[in-house]
Amino acid sequence: MNKCFIPVNEPLLNGNEKKYLIECIDTGWISSEGYFVKKFEDKFSEYLGCNEGIAVASGSGALDIAVKALKIGPNDEVIVPTFTIISPVQSIIRAGAIPILIDSDPITWNMNVTLIEAKITPKTKAILVVHIYGLPVDMEPILELCKKYNLYLIEDAAEMHGQTYNGRLCGSFGDISIFSFYPNKHITTGEGGMIMVYDHDLANRCRKLRNLAFEINCRRFIHKELGWNYRMTNLQAAIGLAQLENIQNHIEKKRWIGTTYNKYLKDITKFQLPQQRTPYAENIYWVYGLMAETEEISEKAQKFLNKNGIGTRPFFWCMHEQPIFKDMGFFRNEVYPNAEKMARNGFYIPSGLGITKDQIKHVVDVLKSF
Ligand SMILES: *Cc1c(COP(=O)(O)O)cnc(C)c1O
Repeated sequence: MNKCFIPVNEPLLNGNEKKYLIECIDTGWISSEGYFVKKFEDKFSEYLGCNEGIAVASGSGALDIAVKALKIGPNDEVIVPTFTIISPVQSIIRAGAIPILIDSDPITWNMNVTLIEAKITPKTKAILVVHIYGLPVDMEPILELCKKYNLYLIEDAAEMHGQTYNGRLCGSFGDISIFSFYPNKHITTGEGGMIMVYDHDLANRCRKLRNLAFEINCRRFIHKELGWNYRMTNLQAAIGLAQLENIQNHIEKKRWIGTTYNKYLKDITKFQLPQQRTPYAENIYWVYGLMAETEEISEKAQKFLNKNGIGTRPFFWCMHEQPIFKDMGFFRNEVYPNAEKMARNGFYIPSGLGITKDQIKHVVDVLKSF
């Protein structure tokens, strides 16, 4: 890659990653049977204050397991934001269930929780919360709805390692909560994910689904249901453990990146910046998003930045506008104006953990000259 190019994300691997990886190779333990996997699961669940962690191959895999472990299937409805990565919605649809979409709040970019209750029906089984870009979803009203209507809560905290809602860590609220360790997340394992649960039987169900649904008290190779091979390797867990040791630094760096951009960009017009705080949280800036006044300005700004050696990424595309889901007969004629506007006008600029102050300044200068 061009040395002057500033990518949207670069991970930070400056702790014990190399040491633990060498240990894997020296001992020959590289598969999912290796001891770093259990250690990483234990340390991560201890950090979250959840009882059990199940390490998996990706955040998307964790969501497949979460939906299936809760026995959500045909004719069940699951409430989920339309503005999200595809993973939560594809897990719901692949389980045969029906995603019921919610529009976004234009300031926090999260799902507008005041719209949820009207969408609850006798078929509703769960609310699948997705925390978007840096601020958590307003959880209190959701917890109340789950209690009132006896719904499961699945929490997609893939972008929220270390973020809190009213002082409690995100990823500790769900009956099942999930994380991703893709390299643009606050800690990474290259590829990987984690499932967090409190209930021991549910944890065992997740472990079984991760491992081809091998039965526990039954002759090996006889199966009563279908699972996946979503196991995490010892190599990934070794990196994850080293990353977890540095999580506090990573969180502080993310907040420093976000507040540094806020400071330099505060007088900019034509773009809405990320909300710095809400009554329940301080932004953790998983990505640093900008919302242009129009789609045209967004496209022009991205082209200008790219031409000047700065990587950008457009915002998520709404689930109700996905060609694949339209083809499958979902979401016909549904309209969610706030989410549609975010998808069209939003993009994010470099904010990976590896970014330097000079790089941030350069991005700001180019943006200002635009
Ligand atoms: C990254 C992400 C995922 C998917 O994680 P992978 O590990 O890439 O499969 C799921 N949900 C959200 C909100 C994400 O940001």
